[in-house]
Amino acid sequence: MRRLDKAFVAFFKRVREGRAPGFPRFKGRGWFDTVEWPKDGDGCRWDSQSEHPTATFVRLQGIGHVRVHQHRPVKGQVKTISVKRKGQRWYVVLLCTDVPTEHLAGTGAVVGIDLGVASLITTSDGRQVANPRRLSAMADRLATAQRDLARKTQGSMRRRRAVARISHLHAKIRRQRVDDAHKTALALVRGYDVIVHEALKIANMTRSASGTMETPGTGVAQKSGLNRSILDAGWGVLLTILAHKAESAGRELIAVNPTNTSRTCSRCGHCAKENRISQAEFRCAACGHEAHADVNAAINILRAGLALRNAAKAA
Ligand SMILES: [Zn+2]
Repeated sequence: MRRLDKAFVAFFKRVREGRAPGFPRFKGRGWFDTVEWPKDGDGCRWDSQSEHPTATFVRLQGIGHVRVHQHRPVKGQVKTISVKRKGQRWYVVLLCTDVPTEHLAGTGAVVGIDLGVASLITTSDGRQVANPRRLSAMADRLATAQRDLARKTQGSMRRRRAVARISHLHAKIRRQRVDDAHKTALALVRGYDVIVHEALKIANMTRSASGTMETPGTGVAQKSGLNRSILDAGWGVLLTILAHKAESAGRELIAVNPTNTSRTCSRCGHCAKENRISQAEFRCAACGHEAHADVNAAINILRAGLALRNAAKAA
């Protein structure tokens, strides 16, 4: 039975029983999407059946023990538990305090990272993390689902199903993106003591339809808008997760202004638009230095970050 019908049934029941009927409240989408239980143990308890060794449970007042699939180990003290619905899935979100930091041993290595489209990141020492293809494949499916939705009649069951499909795809993309970001961020904090990245600017991200944030490419396909937004969100998620991991591992994370980092020669410092001869190639018009464009940019980002760091130390 639909929620709205239930509300009406309850309304008429109140009328029949001669109670103050009130009015059935319309509970729109999202009414019950998040429920929060403050303070672990007071109405809710994480891992409520510890005698059950292989499964994790959460006990929620009014609901009971619910078995959950745990994505990551929980560290620190659970402070609040909230249950969120995204599409068809429910998530238990824990807010923890006193999370122990696990400082990693120094590696002596520093790195600059360039955020891009062809590669999610390129490091100043030439490593690349590809943007997962499955995200792009997902963008295709999303585009199809959205076209499909546009053909459905308002208020129809088919339309509701189409909306649910889109929501399901979005949730899947989010999960994959977060998983990928965790892996990439972990590799970075393990490998380097100092990590320099470009500061993200929303304006930069929306302006360019392809290419890096600073150097948009041309010949953009139709669905790139969608692809684009998926990648944009990927950078933000990566940097957020990286910031958390860096703090916990005792690593230094520095954000720099990305202006000119992709058109400046990392060898001689000559800055010109012509230096960037294609999406992937960099050739300095002054000294002839040739490099992968993203690696060249990542080196400039690293250098800018180290300069900022030295200036801060001197001050
Ligand atoms: Zn040069």
